[in-house]
Amino acid sequence: MIKLYLDPGHGGIDPGAIGNGLQEKDLTLAIATRMKSMLNGYSNVSVRMSRATDQTVSLSQRTDDANQWGADYFISIHINAGGGTGYEDFIYNQLPSGSKTTQMRRTMHEHIIKQVNLIDRGMKQANFYVLRETRMPAILTENGFIDHKSDAALMKTDTWLEAVALGHVNGLVELFNLATHKNAVKEPSKPNKQVQTDYTGISIVDYLNQIGQDSSFSNRAKLARQFGIVDYRGTAEQNLNLLAMLQSNHKSVQVKGDLETDSIVDYLNSIGSDSSFAHRKELAKRHGITNYRGSAEQNIQLLRLIRATN
Ligand SMILES: [Zn+2]
Repeated sequence: MIKLYLDPGHGGIDPGAIGNGLQEKDLTLAIATRMKSMLNGYSNVSVRMSRATDQTVSLSQRTDDANQWGADYFISIHINAGGGTGYEDFIYNQLPSGSKTTQMRRTMHEHIIKQVNLIDRGMKQANFYVLRETRMPAILTENGFIDHKSDAALMKTDTWLEAVALGHVNGLVELFNLATHKNAVKEPSKPNKQVQTDYTGISIVDYLNQIGQDSSFSNRAKLARQFGIVDYRGTAEQNLNLLAMLQSNHKSVQVKGDLETDSIVDYLNSIGSDSSFAHRKELAKRHGITNYRGSAEQNIQLLRLIRATN
């Protein structure tokens, strides 16, 4: 069981940064809460939060709690201020280069920057209390500037909070090889239906990953458009709709026998997937076809591999 400690920065009498009608303590809690509910979709993980409400918690209470619990990873979530713009994250500045924490942070950074829709300010180091006093690898993320107009505009949307949470969760899934309930080997059997309708913010992403598709927000928005979901903002309801459409489309493709097609492009289009060369190349890479050039032979091989995994 992987133990993940989520630390929404500030809270209670400490609002953290303030700007554009927003308070850091509310945003960090909103992000961490979404992360927790997304992580509920995974079976081999246990999540603990330094606070689950608007509550005053000292820095030492946070690190003591994480240390006592024996967390595997400490994730502190913050919002920046001070006249900049963009996303950055921190690890403790006294770590040897090439430390496990450094490597883990790189993975987190890559996943978060994909979703957060902010300028990348880079991977940084600092002597922050929660990074220094935790006995496990720790990261502190600064998700945009509350006093920057366009950063703050994003912060006011559910879409953005959801995307930031998802970026963090995607990083954690990769780092700890988290398994969804659906795929868990030892998980007591549950009715399949329940898993599919029990939306946690993960399932559409999981589904897309499973069928070898890009699960980023921008690709989901594109798919949503293709399926006639207007104004896709990534809400739970929209994600559920999109998932249902993708799944039924995918099923009907199989029933209708579109599997007879020899064209990878036709096949990808039929499952609502991007059929561009760039995306096929990416799919090829994922399926172990190196040096994809789009030759007839490679296309047939790729089609076979995609069908086998779908
Ligand atoms: Zn803060």
